[in-house]
Amino acid sequence: MADKKKLNAPDWSGVKRVLVIVAHPDDADFTCAGTVMQMARQDIDVTYMILTNGDKGNHNPEITRNQLIAMRKIEQRRSAELCGVKQVLFMGEEDGFLQPTPVIRKRVTREIRRIRPELIICPHPDRYLVGDGYINHPDHRNAGLIALEAIFPAADNPMFYPDMMDEGYLPHKISQLYVSGHDEPNIEVDISADAERKVAAILCHVSQFDEPEKAADSWRKRWSETGPDGEPQVFERFKCMKFG
Ligand SMILES: [Zn+2]
Repeated sequence: MADKKKLNAPDWSGVKRVLVIVAHPDDADFTCAGTVMQMARQDIDVTYMILTNGDKGNHNPEITRNQLIAMRKIEQRRSAELCGVKQVLFMGEEDGFLQPTPVIRKRVTREIRRIRPELIICPHPDRYLVGDGYINHPDHRNAGLIALEAIFPAADNPMFYPDMMDEGYLPHKISQLYVSGHDEPNIEVDISADAERKVAAILCHVSQFDEPEKAADSWRKRWSETGPDGEPQVFERFKCMKFG
């Protein structure tokens, strides 16, 4: 568990729009669904950007690649609705091969300039190993890298992509960045009241779970912490960067 003394509560004053950039359908639900639910209840407009099409996320030989892509879009839209997310963007890169190319950086930059979020949530690009039993998916790392490279130096610099200026997508600087999966988080969001709703959001991704109830129980166990009065608590934690 992170050092509690270094953890602050989030500050969303002045935040009207949030963009969540992730690699796969279901990544946002695992990393920040509880936070997003709270944002939505505060009338913050949240957009999910799913970089890949999720076409490797099933081992059933009877489902075709295109069927799986379509299913995963439906599942992601369903969970987004449950979380109060207004818009889901599917960027359509191939699952398993996400790379921080100039092309995807430009596409993400265009969306940042179009949506103009004050806050972006993305995964940690340096997280290779998770705990003692999981090698982090390379798409997760590269999604973090793509997000960071679009935020800086591209999105707020008018010298980047002058053609985009002609389209009306003007430079934009975010004020806060939340990085999920960071070893040294500095903020935490208490999502205890929404923990079961987060489970429900993840389970919207029906194609991903052969034994949903068993999976849900393992998440409940993994997430649960004991509060000061012995009560169970669940948190989502992020490394927060602020930009003046
Ligand atoms: Zn993933």
